[in-house]
Amino acid sequence: MSIDIRQISKTFGPFAALKSVNLHVASGELVALLGPSGSGKTTLLRIIAGLEVADAGSGTILFHGEDMAARRVAERRVGFVFQHYALFRHMTVFENVAFGLRVRPRVLRPPRSEIRDRVHDLLRLVQLDWLADRYPSQLSGGQRQRVALARALAVEPQVLLLDEPFGALDAKVRQELRRWLRRLHDEIHLTSVFVTHDQEEALEVSDRVVVMNEGRIEQIGTPEEVFHQPANEFVMNFLGNVNVFQGRAEDGRFFFGPLEVASVDPDRAAATDARAFIRPHELELEVEATGRPAFPATVQHINAAGGHVKIELLSDTGQHVFVELPHHRYRELDLYRGRTVFVSPRSIKVFVDDYSI
Ligand code: ADP
Ligand code: MG
Repeated sequence: MSIDIRQISKTFGPFAALKSVNLHVASGELVALLGPSGSGKTTLLRIIAGLEVADAGSGTILFHGEDMAARRVAERRVGFVFQHYALFRHMTVFENVAFGLRVRPRVLRPPRSEIRDRVHDLLRLVQLDWLADRYPSQLSGGQRQRVALARALAVEPQVLLLDEPFGALDAKVRQELRRWLRRLHDEIHLTSVFVTHDQEEALEVSDRVVVMNEGRIEQIGTPEEVFHQPANEFVMNFLGNVNVFQGRAEDGRFFFGPLEVASVDPDRAAATDARAFIRPHELELEVEATGRPAFPATVQHINAAGGHVKIELLSDTGQHVFVELPHHRYRELDLYRGRTVFVSPRSIKVFVDDYSI
C-alpha cells in the first residue's frame, strides 16, 4: 500500500505547522520522518492516520492512489504506535493484543479460535509469546512497546505509523529495539512511517529519511544520501556532529585562516563569504607539517573510551575543533593535552547562501 502526501498544509490559529508537504512512500517501504521537536512530524503522522485534518483545500492524502479525505480513521486501516505505551493496564498481554479484533462488529469479528491463533502468532512475531498472561505493569518498557506493536498489527493494518515509539526507553534498549524493528520490517514489509528526532535511529532503521524543519521537508533520501550529500546546512548540521568554519570562497577554492582547499565550484569565481562543514572523522591529525593543507591546533581533551577516539582541539584562531580518530591512528600519534598538532581535512563541504558548492 503506497502513501501519497500532496501539498498538505496545517495551521493552528496563526501558526503554520506544515507548509505544503509532498511525500511519496512506496509500498512496503519504511520511511523515517526526522526533525527537531516542533518540526511537524507528529502533525503529519496524525493527518496520514486521519486523526487530524489538513487545512481545507490544502491538499490530499492518497493510499494506493485512493483519496482518503472521506475515509474515517477506522476505515483507513492504519496501525498506530505512540511513544507512551497506551496498553490497557487491567488487561493481560494477550487481551491487549486481542482487543482490536474483539471489539469488531459481530459480522466482522473472527471466531474465538481464530483470534487466539492470530494473537499467539503476533506474540511470537514480536518474541513475547511466553508473556501472554502477564499484565503491562509486569513488563519492561521495551517489552511493552513490542506488545503495543503486536496490538497495532492485530487488525491487519495497511499502513503502520510509529511516533517516537522508543523515545521513552533508555539508550541500550532503544538500540536493540531499532534493530529488532528493522528485522521485523524485513519480514512483514508493511508500509511504515516512523517518526523520530534521533538521527542515528533514523539512519539505522529506515529505507529513506525525510528531514523536516519548521513544517517543511528539507531533504528526502536514503540514509547514505542525506548523510553524505546533505542538501543544505540544516541537514548537514542535524545529521551528526560537524565542525563549521567561516571562510571565503574564491576562484574555486575555499580559504579559512591558513587553510586553502580546492573543493569549491570553479565557476564561482567571485569572492564570497562561505562556510565549510567538516565531520569529525573527516579531519586528520599530524604531529608535523606535511605540506598538505593544514592548520595548527592544540589538544584540549581526549576521550578514548569508545569505538573511536574523540579529540577536542583549539585552533590558533580560537575555534574549538572536534576530531575522531581510529584507535590505531591515535596510538601512532602520541597525543597529549597541550600538544600542538596539524589538522587537515580529508573531505569538506562548502556552502554559500545555504547552497552546497
Ligand atoms: P513534532 O512532532 O515534530 O515535535 P508537532 O507536529 O507535534 O511537532 O508540532 C508542530 C508544531 O505545531 C509545534 O510547534 C506544536 O506546538 C504545534 N501544534 C501541534 N499540535 C497543535 C495543536 N493541537 N494546537 C496548537 N498547536 C499545535
Ligand atoms: Mg512529535
